[in-house]
Amino acid sequence: MTITAAFPPQPAPGPTLFRAGCPHCRESFELDAGALRLAIGGSARTTFYSFDCPECGEAVRKPAGERIVELLTAGGVRTMRLHAH
Ligand SMILES: [Zn+2]
Repeated sequence: MTITAAFPPQPAPGPTLFRAGCPHCRESFELDAGALRLAIGGSARTTFYSFDCPECGEAVRKPAGERIVELLTAGGVRTMRLHAH
């Protein structure tokens, strides 16, 4: 007689989804980290995130505040650091 301990499988962390809206077609949708890009510049004015709208295909760029930057980086969004000089 064999007794096997059933360890519950590790819960796989689901993909983090970010809610975003498109200013071109006014759709709103959820994007995973792979669909977003984050650019961090020297100031708030040059810090933004961007994605291609899944509805109309337009490239969307939006300013990213500190909190958004935190959320996106924690969610695994590709980050690009821009240098001011
Ligand atoms: Zn759109």
